[in-house]
Amino acid sequence: MGKTILIVEDEQNIVDILCFNLVKEGYDTLEAYDGPTGLQLALEHNPDLMLLDLMLPGMDGFEVCRRLREQGSSIPILMLTAREEEDDRVKGLELGADDYIVKPFKMREVIARVKANIRRTSMLSSAPAAEGAPRGDGGRLVIDTAQAAILKDGRPLELTQREYDLIRFLAAQPGKVFSREALMEHVWNYEGYVGDVRAVDVAVRRLREKLEDDPASPKFIVTKRGMGYYYGG
Ligand code: CA
Repeated sequence: MGKTILIVEDEQNIVDILCFNLVKEGYDTLEAYDGPTGLQLALEHNPDLMLLDLMLPGMDGFEVCRRLREQGSSIPILMLTAREEEDDRVKGLELGADDYIVKPFKMREVIARVKANIRRTSMLSSAPAAEGAPRGDGGRLVIDTAQAAILKDGRPLELTQREYDLIRFLAAQPGKVFSREALMEHVWNYEGYVGDVRAVDVAVRRLREKLEDDPASPKFIVTKRGMGYYYGG
């Protein structure tokens, strides 16, 4: 079955070039030209991935992202931003976007990121069911791969797919430290990743807020200063 990409972007020429290239790669596309329509299509059609512009009529990309996550949608969101300010990019990630692409973008880069995020999704759904619980900490965290859920003290956590993937990846090798670049490569699926690894820190921070008893002194996802992160559960 074809994968569907929802494009939310108010500039017709950008929509056209994205559609043309995504269709050429074998994807189906849906288009919205303003924020409210984008949100509505995302909720109604549950596409496999969303390309979301930041500056949109009606409702900006931040708000679309926030509302979508609020409603429990975990579809991968790649934000398209013309802005150079790092604050804006981080804000998108804080609100639940999976990554951002800065305009003007190279089509090759967009396709690579779309593929990486879709591959991540399909790997997840075809993952074997028997992973078991990560050891330690009296088994407070249980990874239920069949349901793609993480339970803490018996209660399911409300996680995005990336957050789920991140815990699962780290917990598979407790105590082993992974650099941010390694996590970009293995959890974000960006092969040979070099460059901005801010997305990892933001994802970890968000995850800790949901996961840790005290996010200020994390016990599950632990920072190894200057090196990266490890699972300490
Ligand atoms: Ca725009």
